[in-house]
Amino acid sequence: MGWFKKVRRTLGSGERLKVPKGLWTKCDKCGEIIYRKELEANFHICVKCGYHFRISASEYLQILTDSGFVEEFDPRMKSKDPLGFVDSKKYSDRLKKGQDTTKMVEAVRTGEVRIGGYPAVMAVLDFSFMGGSMGSVVGEKIARATVKATERRIPLVILSSSGGARMQEGILSLMQLAKTSGRLAEHRKAGLPYISILTHPTTGGVTASFAMLGDVNVAEPGALIGFAGPRVIKETIGEELPEGFQTSEFVLEHGFLDVIVPRNEMKKTIIKLFDHLVGRHDSGTETGSP
Ligand SMILES: [Zn+2]
Repeated sequence: MGWFKKVRRTLGSGERLKVPKGLWTKCDKCGEIIYRKELEANFHICVKCGYHFRISASEYLQILTDSGFVEEFDPRMKSKDPLGFVDSKKYSDRLKKGQDTTKMVEAVRTGEVRIGGYPAVMAVLDFSFMGGSMGSVVGEKIARATVKATERRIPLVILSSSGGARMQEGILSLMQLAKTSGRLAEHRKAGLPYISILTHPTTGGVTASFAMLGDVNVAEPGALIGFAGPRVIKETIGEELPEGFQTSEFVLEHGFLDVIVPRNEMKKTIIKLFDHLVGRHDSGTETGSP
């Protein structure tokens, strides 16, 4: 006689076991199934392999600043469609989709923030908005944010996550490379620091302009960083690429980065850099131009 009566419940056709949606997530790299709350508490870094999940601009603002924007710049600046560009979809439809997915007006948000009490201007790109691509508005917002940082005599931090220039705007998007770089040169001339944070992926026109111009270039681990992507290079030169090509670790080894910092250490690192580059205002020691 069995102590337990085994009851087998058979699911009827069309009936499915109900698992609350989004409670668990699978790591893209190691396949580990992770409890979403645990992942969030760990800065969206896989607890098993250290893979950095993609996060939004607002999540980065939450993680890296004391309390988000104290003042947001140009929050309603919107892209137009100057070329009436259509590929497989209309550019205007792609913009609308980006806005719906991210609840952002454009692929970048800019404003003044506090980081460890330090005032700074910060720009954060969001890859989920048209691949974080830089059109006229992204370029203009970054250029204006840089000017504000220069005028206010505070450091600038730009967090990049981008596929590069926005091809739907043609030459107008390429012009943003020169514009943003020019404003950064003025910021540098004023003796003010700029920290560039590169996250997965930072490629194309963004790498060819502001992302690589930091006084300190910091990257998250395992990020793809480069101009043309590995597939394009492989096809062009017709050769196999070395292992780990264009990852942060590879780029650091080849001298294009200063340091790789995991996301959970990023804010601490920025503060440490500010300590060196700006110095505490309450320390009573004026350091003059950094
Ligand atoms: Zn993992």
